[in-house]
Amino acid sequence: AGDGALAKRHRHLPNSHPTYFSRPITMVRARNCRFYDEHGRSYLDALNNVTLVGHSHPRLVEAAARQLGRLNTNTRFVYDVLSEYAERLTATLPDGLDVVYFVNSGSEANDLALRMSRYLTKREDVVIIDDAYHGYTSVVADVSPSRYRHYGKPDTTHPTPNPDRYRGRYGYDDPQAGAHYAAHVTETFDRLAAEGRAPAAFLFEALLAGGGQVVLPPGYLAPIFQTAARHGAMTIADEVQVGFGRLGEAFWGFETQDVVPDFVTMGKAMGNGFPVAAMVTTREISQAFDPAGRFFSTYGGNPVACAVGLELLNVVEEENLQDNALRTGQYLRDVLAALAPRHEIIGDVRGQGFYSGVEFVLDRETKEPASEETLIICERLKDRGALVYPTGPAWNILKLKPPLTFTPAHADEFAAALDAVLEEGW
Ligand code: PMP
Repeated sequence: AGDGALAKRHRHLPNSHPTYFSRPITMVRARNCRFYDEHGRSYLDALNNVTLVGHSHPRLVEAAARQLGRLNTNTRFVYDVLSEYAERLTATLPDGLDVVYFVNSGSEANDLALRMSRYLTKREDVVIIDDAYHGYTSVVADVSPSRYRHYGKPDTTHPTPNPDRYRGRYGYDDPQAGAHYAAHVTETFDRLAAEGRAPAAFLFEALLAGGGQVVLPPGYLAPIFQTAARHGAMTIADEVQVGFGRLGEAFWGFETQDVVPDFVTMGKAMGNGFPVAAMVTTREISQAFDPAGRFFSTYGGNPVACAVGLELLNVVEEENLQDNALRTGQYLRDVLAALAPRHEIIGDVRGQGFYSGVEFVLDRETKEPASEETLIICERLKDRGALVYPTGPAWNILKLKPPLTFTPAHADEFAAALDAVLEEGW
């Protein structure tokens, strides 16, 4: 059955469509933190940033089925679950951020935030953090790393240095690292303003995902927000990967840096794998952009999406999952860091909550990325029943984004598998 699925996929999907692993696994089902393949083999999921509350959570399955069996239609109709969900969702955000635009993907959410910021400022340029990925629509591909960008358009994207304290100019030992990296962003704003092209927006993630699992240095975003305000630019927090309690210490990533953005975009974990996404902003911004209906999404905020999203918020709260992300996330990093003395290839272990990176290097002095090795390590881990995948500009970083239900026993199991793979060599 597996070969059939793969062969058909190759016939009917683009050649470039990625699969995890050189010998992909055909998955049949998944429950909580484990996948099961067509042969009944199980795999620990340390990789999947979509299933926030664990795979096939019974309460979400029930919520989706119940709503699908009762009412599912487009969002021009009025129904309770949308209003209730919007109320619950905005209650998790700082005061003022209470207008929700429901969409279907993280890309759409970012696209809409960019569109609004450009419309309202009447400017085109956007300042981003280097190496960050923001999605696949034409607009957001243009603010993602260059390999995703389109051609033939004037370049309005301005990357600023990745504030990576492992590789960058300012290290973990520099308490001013955040201020130094922020100063580069301010320079970019000032230079653009001097050229008569002050930016429309600053777009950021509160922990860089594709940028290499980089934790923002303390004191990084606050001065950038001051700069943006001084230049009349808007701020967009891309919470597609980091939101919903994953970072442990706060429900939203931007809260870890004590800033409040104009726009918050969210997706992925929001529906635990069911497509639910949104962009949230203030009433004032919303009214300035959209007094007479410049936006409508047929499926964004459909009843089933809202029922699933609402139940996810209930589960995160009732199962104390944000707190587990804080505690067990740190435990996972501790057991992984404990492997470093025995395995030279481990250059850095970092992260916040259940969002961690293990960076592999060929040499701890030169920090030359162990890119090929990282992919092989992931393949070997898969053979041992633990799923994780590389990320980062050089693809030499394991990104660990397990469900928030991951336990210390799961963390030990993962660390034991990694230890065995590194012991075995390649
Ligand atoms: N922003 C970030 C930070 C992402 O990681 C992604 C997806 N990987 C997106 C936006 C785009 O989300 P989607 O694939 O749901 O459109």
